[in-house]
Amino acid sequence: MFPETPFYYYDTALLRTTLAAIAKEIAPYPNYHVHYAMKANANPRLLEIIQQAGLGADCVSGGEVQKAIDAGFPADKIVYAGVGKSDREILTALQHDIFCFNVESIPELEVINELAAREGKIARVCLRINPDVEAHTHTHIITGMAENKFGIALHDMLQVVQLAQQLSNISFLGLHFHIGSQITNMQDFVALCQRINEIQHLLHKHAIYPSVINVGGGLGIDYQTPSEHPIADFKAYFRVFTQHLHLRPEQSLHFELGRSVVAQCGSLITRVLYVKQTATKQFAIVDAGMTELIRPALYQAKHKIHHAIPSLHHATQRYDIVGPICESSDVFDKDVLLPITQRGDLLAIRSAGAYGESMASTYNCRPLPPNYTDEEVDLPL
Ligand SMILES: *Cc1c(COP(=O)(O)O)cnc(C)c1O
Repeated sequence: MFPETPFYYYDTALLRTTLAAIAKEIAPYPNYHVHYAMKANANPRLLEIIQQAGLGADCVSGGEVQKAIDAGFPADKIVYAGVGKSDREILTALQHDIFCFNVESIPELEVINELAAREGKIARVCLRINPDVEAHTHTHIITGMAENKFGIALHDMLQVVQLAQQLSNISFLGLHFHIGSQITNMQDFVALCQRINEIQHLLHKHAIYPSVINVGGGLGIDYQTPSEHPIADFKAYFRVFTQHLHLRPEQSLHFELGRSVVAQCGSLITRVLYVKQTATKQFAIVDAGMTELIRPALYQAKHKIHHAIPSLHHATQRYDIVGPICESSDVFDKDVLLPITQRGDLLAIRSAGAYGESMASTYNCRPLPPNYTDEEVDLPL
């Protein structure tokens, strides 16, 4: 029986191929470690596959730390970032003895030190540095510019490193960076490497030798032609770091990839409820909305949309594809050329594996979307 729409469909075979592509690229570098950024998609079935492939977890809340542990990620492969970690969240991470806190301010560092002392623990930390490097992506997903809330300003770095080295229950491991998301211009990562080289040079002058460098995530994927490019360009991505980042032999390099791991394996499957014609427009009103996939409404993101089961029509028309939610921003895309479309047609909104299901809400009292894999539903995607 074909499931009721809307639902998320995950191609687990593609996820496994993607993970194998990552493993192949980092195999020559035993000091490279990839942590999967769980906020991209925390579906337990995907987490299991990702964990089994040997990736660690990158968390941005205590809930994610707990979920990573529950999914079987070893605690010593879990890193935890976030500008606003609550005491309870810090305690959760301390109790599990995670690999590293990525610390974003002096007051946070002091609180972690205090809580660690109370728990009789030593908290390993990297300092998240705001490198003031511009990522050429949507302004809402740029994180590494001086004006962003994330990280410690370059100007304050030395002082904070020295503080971290003095605090009794803190073990200073190194530096963390994350400049943004959906970055497709490799020059942005080259600029990050150059900035990290400058920073390390400066720290060496003060006899500070970080053992960990964490360059965050952000590798982009192809939203326009997902079927032609189902796997992100991991070769070009890792090559940037092997070629441009100067590491000492004992340093480890950590990555936090989210979108590029899971985006292409997911599609949101939705049915056309009504085709509505107005004086100027033709709308295909579908049964999924911004409650299932908020990216188009939140950051004007574009997803490829096509019939999930090939249409019998050859003639095409243009449609604005919109959801049922009572918000004008509940639009998936405008003027999409589709074969003539009718009530009941099944559409696939592609590349929805990252920041799709994990951002779903119950606005308008809608239920959260169910999910199925390629082992349960047969779709020619
Ligand atoms: C969101 C996030 C990531 C993952 O970003 P992607 O663009 O999905 O790869 C990595 N690190 C941190 C700190 C993040 O907040």
